[in-house]
Amino acid sequence: MKTNNMFNFEDTKIAFEYLSDNQLKNAKMIFKAMSSNTLVNIGSKATILAIKMNLPITFALKSTIYEHFCGGETIEEVSKSVKIMDNYGIDVILNYGVEGKYSEDEFDNTAKALHKTLEFAIRNKNIKTISCKPSGLVSHDLLEKLNVGEQLNSEEMARYNKGLKRLSDLAKAAMENKVSLHLDAEETWIQTAIDNIAFELSMEYNKTFPTVINGVQLYVKSKLDFLKESLEHGVANNYIPAVKLVRGAYIEKETERAKEMGYANPICPSLEATHDNYNKGLKYCVENIDKFFLCNATHNEYSCNYIAKLMEENNIPKNHPRIYSAQLKGMSDNISFVMAKQGYNIQKYIAYGPVKQVIPYLIRRAQENTSVEGQTTRELDLIMTEIKRRGKE
Ligand SMILES: Cc1cc2nc3c(=O)[nH]c(=O)nc-3n(C[C@H](O)[C@H](O)[C@H](O)COP(=O)(O)OP(=O)(O)OC[C@H]3O[C@@H](n4cnc5c(N)ncnc54)[C@H](O)[C@@H]3O)c2cc1C
Repeated sequence: MKTNNMFNFEDTKIAFEYLSDNQLKNAKMIFKAMSSNTLVNIGSKATILAIKMNLPITFALKSTIYEHFCGGETIEEVSKSVKIMDNYGIDVILNYGVEGKYSEDEFDNTAKALHKTLEFAIRNKNIKTISCKPSGLVSHDLLEKLNVGEQLNSEEMARYNKGLKRLSDLAKAAMENKVSLHLDAEETWIQTAIDNIAFELSMEYNKTFPTVINGVQLYVKSKLDFLKESLEHGVANNYIPAVKLVRGAYIEKETERAKEMGYANPICPSLEATHDNYNKGLKYCVENIDKFFLCNATHNEYSCNYIAKLMEENNIPKNHPRIYSAQLKGMSDNISFVMAKQGYNIQKYIAYGPVKQVIPYLIRRAQENTSVEGQTTRELDLIMTEIKRRGKE
């Protein structure tokens, strides 16, 4: 697929202006290490093992990979990154990145942390969105049962209702303060249950403001139809359907489970098919933006060019209040800073939380940035170009 370039994504001066020479060198070291598949696999396993064994590994992680991809261990530490983004006209999606909690007490603690996150967002004008993983507030097991239409017994129903209330209380507080709430998209075997929750919450809290923004993974074949369903549900129930489009982060898990359990893999059969699904999703949302709210959450340069092109063709201003593009902290600064400089609405997704507890998030980032052995990744290329441009080789 070809599109005319709307941006110069090679402009490393704009992309990395906010990084000092030392930070740039740290980034080079990290992406160099991550570009090796073998190293990432060994590193991921060794890190999990070291944490389990209580080895003092947090200091090493904190000053390297953690600092690059996360905002800080506490909400106060995040302020620095939030201010930097504000200086460049970039908004923040703040994510409490703690994962892998399973008990009701842990869900309550996560809910408390999310309310604190929301309070912090309210105090910072460029944090217009916070995000959460629904399975961090509602039991994964219950979501899995509901996903296949299984009835819950009364004890399970009581736990499910508690989980729903955690989400609903958060969405209500978000709506009252005009902050949006991303529901991150998860594995397909719980996602239908999450989509149903998103519909329910949207009917309640998206009447006049896009409070609840549902994650839609376009690597799932059926999700293009789901976008249409989302729009129709919003129109029929008189609310703003709000979606965050992503390609999807769990491809290996999805493929393995489908194989193990002997059902058809729900994921697109090739990378090209995912790209095609994603870009068709973008087109559908942009052409219906009078009804939708859209977050184009991607590091794909083609898709970012394409959305700008679609906006131009449909006479939509660059800073249309219902269209955002978003990238993760530490990734694709060449897209974020270049697009922001040209006046597009950009958000950086910044995760925060204690080092040990955001390991799953960090491992996903490491896996995302590996490449065929011996080749450099796009990130590493850009970083090395900028180091050279600064004459700091
Ligand atoms: C702001 C933000 C929020 C995010 N939130 C979520 C979320 O809620 N849930 C979630 O799951 N992910 C989320 N992600 C992660 C996102 O899914 C990954 O960043 C994304 O998968 C990487 O794809 P890309 O769009 O950047 O483009 P690319 O790097 O061009 O595409 C890579 C993606 O294509 C797909 N793919 C790769 N190989 C194949 C293949 N052989 N067949 C089919 N498909 C293939 C995979 O999805 C892979 O990740 C988020 C990302 C951002 C930037």
